[in-house]
Amino acid sequence: MPYLYFDSAATAPVRPGALRAAAKACEEYGNPSSLHAAGMNARRLLDAGRAQVARALKCEPGEVLFTGGGTESNNQALFGLAKLRGKRSKVVISTDSEHPSVEEPLKELERQGFTVRRLSTKNGVPDYDGLRRILAEEPVAFVSVMRANNETGAVYDLPRIRRILDECGSDALLHCDDVQGFLKIPQDRLSACCDLISLSAHKIGGLKGVGALYVGKRAHLLPALLLGGGQENGLRSGTENVEEALRRLRDSGLHFHLPDAHLPNLLHLSIPGVQSAWALNFLSERGICVSAGSACSARERKKGNRVLKAYGLPDAEIETSLRLSFSEQNTMEECAVLCDALLDCMKLRK
Ligand code: PLP
Repeated sequence: MPYLYFDSAATAPVRPGALRAAAKACEEYGNPSSLHAAGMNARRLLDAGRAQVARALKCEPGEVLFTGGGTESNNQALFGLAKLRGKRSKVVISTDSEHPSVEEPLKELERQGFTVRRLSTKNGVPDYDGLRRILAEEPVAFVSVMRANNETGAVYDLPRIRRILDECGSDALLHCDDVQGFLKIPQDRLSACCDLISLSAHKIGGLKGVGALYVGKRAHLLPALLLGGGQENGLRSGTENVEEALRRLRDSGLHFHLPDAHLPNLLHLSIPGVQSAWALNFLSERGICVSAGSACSARERKKGNRVLKAYGLPDAEIETSLRLSFSEQNTMEECAVLCDALLDCMKLRK
């Protein structure tokens, strides 16, 4: 049965342009480091891909490092920063709602003797005053804060974090996991305020296992963790805003968990009285794919949802929550079918 896919925050459908670019990269099988014609053709493709990512990031092509995905970008950024900055300070600042590919490396750094101060993100807003307080107390090696949360779509204010670092006279480097925000919300010269930015292709219609790390001038001495070649990639832009089509859901008794700043393509909500698992089954029987949270946190969720707890949501809302996420391939008709199904699902309420 063909399904209606509303789980693009887990992974988005592959865009035809990305498939064509990948096929072309396979045809140009030369090694980009080889000096013969086959190598030079492959090099041209690699350079073009790098320039394309750099244009989207508003940075220099030489500041874009290709990686094997968002997880690798985050690991490279955090462990690299710890090596680069660990002699000056063993204090790291992050938040209590980061993706596991940031949270787990942070836990590993704690085992290695670092102190990680996690800012509260209650109600989807990082504790910016808390950041100021910590910076006033002690030197900080680096700060790592995501721009858009993968579970809730909340958007955190990276330019504001940069301003706070500058106002406090801190030389801490700033890393941003922008895997969910990239090309979904305006880039706003994110590269001007962050030293490192992690990206992933499969959230924006590219292939899985492809990512990038922006490495700005202040972080150019970042030590590499993996030694080897780069990867071919052509990233493509854009996810249209489908919130309009879902407006009628807002008056329907569903509980939306939307902080003021949030992604246009991700809706996090609760169906009061209907457990997430029931709702997922109900929708799945109609061929509709949504999720009860981020796929990456599925294992963690058995212990209760870390991010939603950090946001201060009551247990009853957490247990009934759903994440709907959209790609530019979702049509208005599909959204209408989804709306009807959600409203029917509310009737499951005890
Ligand atoms: N960071 C965030 C916020 C994510 O949502 C994800 C994937 O779900 C990742 C990092 C990991 O990216 P990848 O799947 O490319 O390793």
